[in-house]
Amino acid sequence: MTATTTMQALVFETAGQLRLESRPLPTLSHPDDVMVRVAAVGICGTDRSIVLGDFPARSGVVLGHEAVGEVVATGPAVTSLAPGGRVVINPTYHCGGCGRCRRGMAAHCTSKDGRELGVDCDGTLAEYVVVPAPFLHPLPPEVSYARAALVEPLACVLNNLTAASLRWTDRCLVIGAGPIGTLCALVLACRGHHVTVVERDTVRVELARRILPAAARVLPEPDGGLWPAAEGTDSGPEVVVDTTGALPADALQVVAAGGTVVAMGERETATATIPVRSLVTRGVRLVGAGPYPPHLFQTALDLAGDLPLETLVTHALPLHRYADAFTALHVPLAATRPETASYAAMKVLLLPGDQAVEDYRCAG
Ligand SMILES: [Zn+2]
Ligand SMILES: [Zn+2]
Repeated sequence: MTATTTMQALVFETAGQLRLESRPLPTLSHPDDVMVRVAAVGICGTDRSIVLGDFPARSGVVLGHEAVGEVVATGPAVTSLAPGGRVVINPTYHCGGCGRCRRGMAAHCTSKDGRELGVDCDGTLAEYVVVPAPFLHPLPPEVSYARAALVEPLACVLNNLTAASLRWTDRCLVIGAGPIGTLCALVLACRGHHVTVVERDTVRVELARRILPAAARVLPEPDGGLWPAAEGTDSGPEVVVDTTGALPADALQVVAAGGTVVAMGERETATATIPVRSLVTRGVRLVGAGPYPPHLFQTALDLAGDLPLETLVTHALPLHRYADAFTALHVPLAATRPETASYAAMKVLLLPGDQAVEDYRCAG
């Protein structure tokens, strides 16, 4: 155990304002609690939205939920983990006792208020965090921290691709080449699907081309629409995944008859006008997947053994450089000159401790 009693934590104040704060170390208050020294935390689209004021979060909350680290202390009831073990955190808590949990719908647990890490309860962008043992997954030796930091977003991706009810013959269009869109394309390409990604931002087009296997086509979004006109309206993709959270109407225009549009990406303010007739006459489905169920988190960790997730990591910065991290993600903080902010990154990790994060690529 550490002898210190305080730690550094990254706290959300209000839109555009974060601060690094000295906080008391969290304590083990339940027998199955585990204290983790946080090694790396991925900055998520949700964190971006919170800082931009597009997603509600409690003022004064410690941000962050995509985290990996090392066990440093365990409560008396914990038998599956021991100090020194490397773990990834499943931040999607569920109670196990409500009606939804008892009916196998833990993803839609009704006791989540006050338990959403980095939103309404203190998250992982801190040197230490206390997590109930059932939400910690031991890392196999071959999975680096940098790779494991992408397991949580991979679980989101698997949940959304599951909602698409993909068939082997389906051609897929992914809208947006941020970390989520790129992860979608990586999984689809590695599983042998025909996949096209469209993205407006030229930096992200280049990054996605560098990261993805050649089988995944990455196109700058043309002015005329999402799907290359030369391929004709009859040959639209059977599955469209909109990772921008803002373009379901556009997606419905290009999806093939009988196809599925998956609405992904959370943007509190996004609304859309849907051509309802196209759902009826063309047999198109528009679906949302919601949070992932617990078993998909383990599935994502299992898949991480074979997927080079760490290739998405373009930046890994110490916690005190949080302003640089958000600037690389096109989020101008009050302390940053707004004109310097534009996308320069794919996945950005912040490193709260002094542990080395092996195997990350650093372009910044
Ligand atoms: Zn996330
Ligand atoms: Zn529940």
